[in-house]
Amino acid sequence: MTDANESALRVSPGCVAPEPPQDLITRVANRRRSLSRQQYVDGILRGERAILAKAITLIESSRAADREMAEQIVEDCLPHGGKSIRVGITGVPGAGKSSLIEAIGTYLIDQHKQKVAVLAIDPSSQVSGGSILGDKTRMTSLSSSEMAFIRPSPSRGHSGGVAQRTREAMLLCEAAGYQNILIETVGVGQSETAVHDMVDFFLLILLAGAGDELQGIKRGVMEMADLVAINKADGTNLAAAERAGTEAQNALHYFPSFASRWTPRVLTCSAVTGKSIPDLWNCVLEHNALIRANGWLNLNRQYQTRTWMHEIIQQQLREQFESHPAIREHMGALEQEVMEGRTTSFRAARTLLEMYSGPEAAKAE
Ligand code: GDP
Repeated sequence: MTDANESALRVSPGCVAPEPPQDLITRVANRRRSLSRQQYVDGILRGERAILAKAITLIESSRAADREMAEQIVEDCLPHGGKSIRVGITGVPGAGKSSLIEAIGTYLIDQHKQKVAVLAIDPSSQVSGGSILGDKTRMTSLSSSEMAFIRPSPSRGHSGGVAQRTREAMLLCEAAGYQNILIETVGVGQSETAVHDMVDFFLLILLAGAGDELQGIKRGVMEMADLVAINKADGTNLAAAERAGTEAQNALHYFPSFASRWTPRVLTCSAVTGKSIPDLWNCVLEHNALIRANGWLNLNRQYQTRTWMHEIIQQQLREQFESHPAIREHMGALEQEVMEGRTTSFRAARTLLEMYSGPEAAKAE
């Protein structure tokens, strides 16, 4: 690595700040002599953001050697994690997720003197190559802080298990001393459940003046929310936001109560004026105090780790199945037969499964 590159890294204010610094970090890190497992772990535990970023790149890699190293690093870091407050944030594009994360993150750094890591799961990224948080210029103030670490969702090129990778990244951030982890997702798909399954507190951001259908928010997502924040409660939109807040509050009454014994709340806020940002975070802290005291925090995290285990098994079985030589050879033809009605989905699936696990597989190899 050249001195110029080193100094560019050093002076770069935000570790994963807007491109090209992120790009530069990755390129420089990749060119650097690879670090040992111990060097990675020590660097992460010292809170070195460049090493944390590089370890997350390993997590996101599809190379088997990288994955193995990543798993070892995660394992070593595990005993040092688990102490943060994990918050999931969802809402449709344009609801103000990035702006609110910027406002909350800045508030935590300035007022609570705490570190903040921002991660993302973008269900569309694997298809489109896009990535939420990709446009990090939207978080200019946060990304320029030494106390913040911002990591966009892994984008195209990374095979399955995006949620799993985000979970692992979260564990490394915790080991690196980030007391607050904010995980953003777009409120349009399955990803809310994935995020809900990895956080302690789930925040849904809504806008006034758009019906539920328009906002694409499904009832199930609303049911998961510990807090509904009606954003953009400022200027001429203030009264409409207050009305939407009352409607949301009424809607919450009809939902079943939480195992955590928390009663979900609604507030109106503005990422632009800063209205209710402290209230929003106080709500997170109040929730955290409650679930610590009543044991839900530990219990829920235990359930979550069990769910993760099952997800890893499912994902790896699928990967092994799909990369099996007999399956690769016959999958296309059987799909075609199913589509043309020459065989049933059930029969084709059974044939493939037998090829994978039964004597047929040995013949095909
Ligand atoms: P995201 O797609 O959910 O991440 O939304 P963004 O944070 O990118 O915000 C979308 C747009 O809404 C941007 O133009 C923001 O400047 C604007 N915006 C976000 N929060 C507020 C707010 O509280 N008040 C107002 N008036 N505009 C906001």
